[in-house]
Amino acid sequence: MTLLSADKELDVKPQKTNLLGLSPEKLVVFFESIGEKPFRATQVMKWIHQIGVDDFDQMTNLAKNLREKMKAIAEIRAPEVVSHHESADGTCKWIIRVSGGDCIEAVFIPEKDRGTLCISSQVGCSLDCSFCATGKQGFSRDLTAAEVIGQLWIAAKFFNSLGPKANRVVSNVVMMGMGEPLLNFDNVVDAMGLMLNDNAYGLSKRRVTLSTSGVVPMIDKLSEVSDVSLAISLHAPNDELRNQLVPINKKYPIASLLASAQRYLDKMPDVRRKITIEYTLMDRINDRDEHARDLAKLLSSLPCKINLIPFNPFDQSGYKRVTNTALYRFRDILQEAGHTVTVRTTRGDDISAACGQLAGAVNDRTRRSERYMQQHEKQPVKFVAS
Ligand code: SAH
Ligand code: SF4
Repeated sequence: MTLLSADKELDVKPQKTNLLGLSPEKLVVFFESIGEKPFRATQVMKWIHQIGVDDFDQMTNLAKNLREKMKAIAEIRAPEVVSHHESADGTCKWIIRVSGGDCIEAVFIPEKDRGTLCISSQVGCSLDCSFCATGKQGFSRDLTAAEVIGQLWIAAKFFNSLGPKANRVVSNVVMMGMGEPLLNFDNVVDAMGLMLNDNAYGLSKRRVTLSTSGVVPMIDKLSEVSDVSLAISLHAPNDELRNQLVPINKKYPIASLLASAQRYLDKMPDVRRKITIEYTLMDRINDRDEHARDLAKLLSSLPCKINLIPFNPFDQSGYKRVTNTALYRFRDILQEAGHTVTVRTTRGDDISAACGQLAGAVNDRTRRSERYMQQHEKQPVKFVAS
């Protein structure tokens, strides 16, 4: 080795392991690798995820020399909160900067009997559904497991700081923010492992929902490692229409998608589990009576509940929200056919926190946002330098 390269090596600091994103299993492996007992993983997981600590010195049940050892090789690094907005209806939105300068968004929706945190899995999305603001932004990168769980860590820490009287608790997590979670499989599965673990967030598997636009092989892969609730973004009752709205349908058409959803349920020991079918309703696109009738028939044998989402408009989307008349007719047709149907009410309107409006600030590697804006004779608006 030459002196020069030795000098260079001295300059490079060894990267510390970020413990925030280590799944319970990986945390055990980490402690074993430094000659510590597995129970350390439980202790540290509680400090990080239940108490919200990101400083080893606060971990008072670890001996000082272990804390020093940890400081040298590890860190607890959450993504940075750029801003926090609270809507008149109690909905909260965090804009969060992840490494590299991109921003993502996470939204908390309080309801009478629960508090749902909607989190992102990727910066942007590569799948380009025609009605989705995230898709129009193009794709930058997958979030790390620390960045995925970091969104829950930030929300839980914030609510803890308000104290019990504020009565704000994240009881449910939905992966319905930016990105396609099944295309960031390993990191999302690690983060969900922490959501479900009793020494971390201890959420029930029924209260953690992964939403997918239909990456069929990954649904099967998910069923091998997890039993969280599954939501399928369907949006059309036939392939011709779905091909236009959800381009990944050309690769994995409706029949194969619904078959994989059924296989997912078949792996669950609890026969009462159901798939959630999401259907975003757009004016005169997919909201006709015949669409509702066809949808009712298509889903007749799948144990499911149907969630109707009125389209949330965004700049130059080209689509309009379903009218209330069409929305309730659509719901009634499904209900008359025996389906369980819910209508998603729009929350956090005043802070642009609605489903599909999350746009963050994406360093678009696909240049899709530029092309999209050119088609609409506009300049890309949310483009950040890396
Ligand atoms: N990529 C995943 C999860 C993120 S999108 C998926 O597609 O399922 C979460 C939900 O928001 C999906 O059901 C999606 O179809 C819906 N959505 C996207 N854009 C929307 C918009 N403008 N209005 C209403 N819902 C929208
Ligand atoms: Fe991606 Fe989901 Fe948006 Fe489609 S709807 S572009 S899969 S985030």
